[in-house]
Amino acid sequence: MQNIDLSPVNLGTPAQQFLDRKTYQLFVSGNWSDCESGETFETLDPATGDVIGNLQRAGAGDVNKAVTAARTAFETGSWPAMTPMERSRILWKIADQIDAHIDELAELETMDQGKALYVGRWAEIPGAAAQFRYFAGLATKIEGATIPTSINYQPEGKEVFAYTQKEPVGVVGAIVPWNSPLVLTAMKIAPALAAGCTMVLKPAENTSLTAVRLVELMQQAGLPDGVMNLITGYGDEAGAALAGHLGVDKITFTGSTQTGRAIMNAAQGNLKKITLELGGKSPVIILPDADVDAAIQGAANAIFFNGGQVCIAGSRLYCHSSIKDKVIEGVAEIGQQIKLGHGLNPETQMGPLVSREHSAKVANYIADGKSSGATVITGGEAGGPNSSFVAPTVITDVTPDMPIVREEIFGPVVVVTPFDEVDEVVTAANDSDYALAAGVWTEGLSNGIRMANRLKAGTVWINGHAMYDASLPIGGMKQSGWGRDSGQAALESYLELKTVCAII
Ligand code: NAD
Repeated sequence: MQNIDLSPVNLGTPAQQFLDRKTYQLFVSGNWSDCESGETFETLDPATGDVIGNLQRAGAGDVNKAVTAARTAFETGSWPAMTPMERSRILWKIADQIDAHIDELAELETMDQGKALYVGRWAEIPGAAAQFRYFAGLATKIEGATIPTSINYQPEGKEVFAYTQKEPVGVVGAIVPWNSPLVLTAMKIAPALAAGCTMVLKPAENTSLTAVRLVELMQQAGLPDGVMNLITGYGDEAGAALAGHLGVDKITFTGSTQTGRAIMNAAQGNLKKITLELGGKSPVIILPDADVDAAIQGAANAIFFNGGQVCIAGSRLYCHSSIKDKVIEGVAEIGQQIKLGHGLNPETQMGPLVSREHSAKVANYIADGKSSGATVITGGEAGGPNSSFVAPTVITDVTPDMPIVREEIFGPVVVVTPFDEVDEVVTAANDSDYALAAGVWTEGLSNGIRMANRLKAGTVWINGHAMYDASLPIGGMKQSGWGRDSGQAALESYLELKTVCAII
């Protein structure tokens, strides 16, 4: 592994001032407070292993208070009753607040999560603001329909008038993961608030700092007290208490498929609605008519961006046999040139993974692949000062049954499989428990669209990867989840449809 330079890099003043606070509280009903037990837990800079903050370890009692606050705000507060235009105005202001604090939020995300600064600064934090702007626009477009009926048993001289209207689901619990904390949080909050819901947010235990800052910015934007409540803590404590709470009407969750199953079980008590954005093992397919140089760069970005800690990462690469050697060599070369370092260093292209434990898990997958006969072309190591870095890794000579081919590794590790026939690659790409996303590289658009029709995936990109937009629904088929974030589909998932049928 290359030498990893962790020489200190200064934070901007706002991010430094935020970190100087050292301890962060829960936010319930418009007030910051400690948790009932008074216990805190540490959050670390994954590059160094240094403690950078202490968060409240919320338990069931704290969750109950937060849900009660959200319930009160929903039943008697101003938010659901506010005009759509007024809600829209506040959501837009939240977007402005995020933009105004973009450097601070990107730096905090890097300190807490490890990611290279450019990922937050140019993709994720602007992406979070875009979510609020997009749903600010949709808040004023929540419409029902008038419906002509064939009912004919109304009293003589009377008519039937029927229509639908959409109403907020109610109290929403949002549980988010650690890989892209702020933007994934925004994907949950923005549509739920646009719909008129009130919320309890539980960020991931190892990346809660930007959620604390976001909630402060939301209050400054004029969000009424009780509409957004923040609980920090562990998944099996605070997260489980929220998922099982009978006062919560919907859980919107992003995380692993395994936790998604636990959420489903917990939600059955009051049959709460659930949206599950889960894991992936997304194929990238390079057809023989592709612009090979562009495809090589695209395939490398698809797996190495954010250290591969991306649900839609292109972790299975299928390339036509005629271009196999060039593709493997090209992706490996890009991987070798990626500069690892502390995410705050402007030279850094890939930071550490989120924790030493996660890096060890990724390294174990690679070791397992090797011992099963796979060939590691480049990378394959974990290291660095806190053992939290994993070098970009390209693996060949894999078989479809290997865990490195079937399971989500969630690191910068791509497995490459050559193919000869289109039918063969479609079958291989669809041979997965996951079906979140897929990429196809071809200069023949018809080939790309025909392939998109046959691939089992919530999103298919042609000649690109990870093209996100607040307007584009994102989510998975099979065990990659239920429902969609982003786009109008996300808004609908926070709304109930009511039918009103009257004799007039
Ligand atoms: P995780 O499932 O371990 O944790 C996610 C969140 O769930 C955390 O806040 C955690 O505290 C909480 N949690 C854990 N156990 C819980 C329980 N029993 N009850 C309630 N909450 C609980 O996932 P992770 O490791 O933080 O994130 C990585 C996963 O997220 C990957 O599988 C990745 O593919 C997935 N992901 C999916 C998408 C998508 O859009 N489909 C996007 C990003 C990440």
